[in-house]
Amino acid sequence: MARYLESKCKLCRREGIKLFLKSDRCYKEKCAIDKRACLPGQHGHNKPKISNYGILFREKQKLRRYHGLLEKQFYNYFQEASRKKGSTGKNLLELLERRLDNVVYRLGFALTRDQARQSVTHGHIMVNNHKVTIASYIVKKNDVISVTEKSRKKDQFINSVKFSQRVKLPLWLEVNTEKLEGKILSIPAREDVSLPVQEKLITELYS
Ligand code: SF4
Repeated sequence: MARYLESKCKLCRREGIKLFLKSDRCYKEKCAIDKRACLPGQHGHNKPKISNYGILFREKQKLRRYHGLLEKQFYNYFQEASRKKGSTGKNLLELLERRLDNVVYRLGFALTRDQARQSVTHGHIMVNNHKVTIASYIVKKNDVISVTEKSRKKDQFINSVKFSQRVKLPLWLEVNTEKLEGKILSIPAREDVSLPVQEKLITELYS
């Protein structure tokens, strides 16, 4: 799968917001958004005029980059969201939150979504006691997500859990940090999405 390999902090600076793409660095004063909140590049200090289309486009990029998805993957989620009942924007946010890699990250079993994705694809994660290696797997209410017994002693998971205790767990999730096991208590609601994003603008962009 194609992946973005350049500086992650540049992405945050481009969107002008913390996307939490690195681990503890995002919570320290070393964070590039805290240090120099200007656009990346030579002319980053100039404030460019932004068109209406630009506003919609940036809102989409913000959400897409937050979840580390490629354009095509993101668009497929949008199409799936538009086929569901209710508000397309809210459906889109819900689908993205329910991705297995996002849930592994939210439960604190990984320091970043990238790391969570790798943990899933490398076979360290189980859903209802069955190994699942598809990062885009959509979790359901009452699913139990856990780290395989063999992987529980790995430093990666021990460190992630230690670090994540500093970060607030969303209300739709429950976690047992001793057993490295979490449960989906409910389907995430709009207010459970912590990223300040205007989903209506994304819907407008694609329509
Ligand atoms: Fe973004 Fe700051 Fe984390 Fe870099 S350190 S990825 S700028 S939140």
